[in-house]
Amino acid sequence: MSYRIAITGAGIGGLAAAAQLARDGHAVTLFERFPAARPLGSGLVVQPVGLAVLDAIGAGEEARSLGAPLTRMLGHSGHRIALDVAYRPGAPGLAMHRAALFHCLWQAATRAGVLPLTGHTATGTRQSQTAIHLTTDQGEHGPFDLIVDASGAGSNLSPLTARPLSFGAIWANVPWPATDLPGTELRQRYHRASRMAGILPIGRLPGDPTPRAAVFWSLSLAELDAWPARRLADWKAEVASFWPAMTPFLDGITDKAQLTPARYSHGTLHKPYSPRLIHIGDAAHRASPQLGQGANMALLDARALALALRLPLEEALPAWHTSRRWHLGLYQALSAAFTPQYQSHSRVLPALRDRLLSPLSRLWPLPRILSSLVAGDLVPPIAGYPGDRAQG
Ligand SMILES: Cc1cc2nc3c(=O)[nH]c(=O)nc-3n(C[C@H](O)[C@H](O)[C@H](O)COP(=O)(O)OP(=O)(O)OC[C@H]3O[C@@H](n4cnc5c(N)ncnc54)[C@H](O)[C@@H]3O)c2cc1C
Repeated sequence: MSYRIAITGAGIGGLAAAAQLARDGHAVTLFERFPAARPLGSGLVVQPVGLAVLDAIGAGEEARSLGAPLTRMLGHSGHRIALDVAYRPGAPGLAMHRAALFHCLWQAATRAGVLPLTGHTATGTRQSQTAIHLTTDQGEHGPFDLIVDASGAGSNLSPLTARPLSFGAIWANVPWPATDLPGTELRQRYHRASRMAGILPIGRLPGDPTPRAAVFWSLSLAELDAWPARRLADWKAEVASFWPAMTPFLDGITDKAQLTPARYSHGTLHKPYSPRLIHIGDAAHRASPQLGQGANMALLDARALALALRLPLEEALPAWHTSRRWHLGLYQALSAAFTPQYQSHSRVLPALRDRLLSPLSRLWPLPRILSSLVAGDLVPPIAGYPGDRAQG
């Protein structure tokens, strides 16, 4: 079966979908609002389930050559261990610069013959009995059999209204300095849930051998609002006194423009499709990055869509939803439950985290369950396709 498919958004989900759908013989047109490919953003973790999708589209090898294998996530609150999750032996996560992941996906999409139409902002759709058209700021395009909305958290096509979360963060990328911290672990430091600092090794950028780190610092909404007026030197002094091990990383930040503020939101579309229109990735579901699953969800949505589109269209979209709904629902619920333990004004939740949940989490069988949780396969990520390589 071969369809005419428009995809909006050349981000993680859009590029992954474009690469797979074009390889499967569909006629794919990819629309991106930015005039040129933009290597934006900071670090993220591609979990083992996401890596399996990268392998399925031929981008895994290059991603591994750029990213940093992540074996453990370790967070301290004072002298207590508040978070300690190890990946399964031999199946690490892959921490990457977002631009490096973008590069791998862009290469995979272009290898599959997709030439993204940049400088096209999707604004709406028009349906007829037999087809759907996409409207962008450049005019109307189509007819298409299907539009895949992969335009992320700011989608103009998605009806999702997500709930803003009470904390976000500022992020920066810096060269990995001389430090005692291991280059294979995410390290975090907390004070209650109102302060969180993190250091994530993210490997390197294409064409640059320098190993890098993503550093982040949690801020409440009021602090994010006040951030533009904050002096860099004052902020660096606060962070260095909170967590001295971060000092050599802070030396790599000399200009406030290196720090990108990010606000988070949470929400899920109950039914992420209608006839001839489907929403994937952040256009369909949003969560804080605390569980490190957002990019994986977009990759899995794209993979599941490629598998479902081997069916007739009217069966494919419900089949896609069925294959993803339990995994998505579980991780969205867990993200909503876990995030306030690390980012909130609560005093009770972080006390429970440090004194009860964290010690409990080190007792059998919870370490294995937590490894599976971060790997992204606590339940089958794409149900109903047991032979698929992206099932891990
Ligand atoms: C600070 C931060 C840290 C994160 N850390 C992690 C992590 O460790 N692990 C993880 O898995 N996830 C993480 N995430 C989440 C992850 O980045 C997102 O979930 C993921 O990028 C969603 O992919 P997407 O394809 O849906 O959207 P995006 O990657 O955001 O792509 C959307 C694309 O659509 C384009 N676009 C937008 N509007 C239009 C339009 N109208 N017309 C055409 N194009 C349009 C955009 O320019 C963009 O290229 C993090 C997110 C943030 C903010």
